[in-house]
Amino acid sequence: MPPEKVYDIIGIGIGPFNLGLAALCYELPELNCLFIDQNENFNWHPGMMLPSARLQVPWYADLVSLASPCSKFIYMNYLHEKQKQFHFGITDPSFIKRSRYNDYCRWVGEQLPSLQFSTTCISIEKENQFYRVKTNKGSYLTQKIILGTGTVPFIPEFGQKANENIFHSCNYLFRKETILQRNAITIVGSGQSAAEIFYDLLQSYKGKLNWFTRSARFYPMDYSKLTLEMSTPDYIDYFFSLPERKKQTVLKNQDALYKGINQCLINDIYDMLDELDSPNINLQCNCELKKISDDLTLTFLHTEEERTFLHETSSLILATGYTASVPDCIKPIRHHIQLTKDGLCKAHRNYSIDDNNSIFIQNGEQQTHGFNASDLSLGPYRNAVILNTILGYEHYKIEKNITFQTFGLPQ
Ligand SMILES: Cc1cc2nc3c(=O)[nH]c(=O)nc-3n(C[C@H](O)[C@H](O)[C@H](O)COP(=O)(O)OP(=O)(O)OC[C@H]3O[C@@H](n4cnc5c(N)ncnc54)[C@H](O)[C@@H]3O)c2cc1C
Repeated sequence: MPPEKVYDIIGIGIGPFNLGLAALCYELPELNCLFIDQNENFNWHPGMMLPSARLQVPWYADLVSLASPCSKFIYMNYLHEKQKQFHFGITDPSFIKRSRYNDYCRWVGEQLPSLQFSTTCISIEKENQFYRVKTNKGSYLTQKIILGTGTVPFIPEFGQKANENIFHSCNYLFRKETILQRNAITIVGSGQSAAEIFYDLLQSYKGKLNWFTRSARFYPMDYSKLTLEMSTPDYIDYFFSLPERKKQTVLKNQDALYKGINQCLINDIYDMLDELDSPNINLQCNCELKKISDDLTLTFLHTEEERTFLHETSSLILATGYTASVPDCIKPIRHHIQLTKDGLCKAHRNYSIDDNNSIFIQNGEQQTHGFNASDLSLGPYRNAVILNTILGYEHYKIEKNITFQTFGLPQ
């Protein structure tokens, strides 16, 4: 029997980050790669694919450009192939529609022979100097693992299980038709998803529409230029160097850098409120959801007035965000992985989570590398660092000293 094939890299999960990595690997024929995903095909957050939703990063922050601007998988080449470059130039090109981004990702994916869908990773085990990746479709040997399994919807503990009337925002479009029949809809959360759902319902829903957030205001995403300097490798270097206890405090004060609402969406919402001028619509900040009763009476705490109040609704949408999680499939190799005291991956600066640069993480390193972990615009940079580490030389040139400001002590 010929010896079993050993891959150089197996990527678990094909979201935008591992898809970008697979696209970069296409240019590196010396690497033998396989990327697997449990889904049947690439479909980016389908429950939130609202027709008007736009990306929160500029179009040039595509899957590869910021690491490999001459790649055939750059967004401009997608437009060229689809005969849409002139459309793009004429329409507002800065923040493209999410549906277009999804189509772009699918176009990239269709050209990559290394992708394998409908394949769930069940476990990863150590086998001599390699890893054995066990899936529903068979098992594979590899030298390196790249975990790209994404984040999971976060539902706070209210003692009430999700059902057809209480659900996370990730399921919004799957439940929309049903909840449009209800008398009252309540959205909880202050971020982009909450705002998109509120705006979408403003256009079609005739019942009582409520939007509560525990934040002190409905705040915009901060796109000012000196703040954008924090979405750079320089800032990641700085954040990474901070002591662990300090990182937590810093992160807590950075919501507006990655959880805020698009400024133009806030304006659209305001204009729509003005046009409708309806007594059936209610928005309130400083309101923290504390309890959900069986009859869908909600108990809120007004955090500034420090008093509770009750609110009745017929459906509740929890736009309460997403959280990092360590996938179950890595349980057998947990002792090779460094974890924080919260049980999350403790990544090295080069995104490896073991001591041999053999297991890497994408979008699971917020606690070590900062708020940029989930930022699509930094995906190509992270992939460049990971691939440079695996190749053992700087194949992808990394820009240095990008920012005008200094983050740490003056040198
Ligand atoms: C609605 C929405 C809009 C967003 N818009 C933006 C934006 O505009 N700009 C921005 O910077 N960020 C945005 N984000 C944040 C973030 O960048 C995205 O969530 C992005 O999809 C993260 O990519 P990922 O590759 O980490 O994981 P995901 O896209 O979550 O993909 C992970 C994949 O792993 C697969 N998987 C999981 N476990 C297994 C397993 N055991 N075996 C096989 N496959 C597995 C899943 O099926 C999934 O396909 C948005 C997030 C949401 C929810």
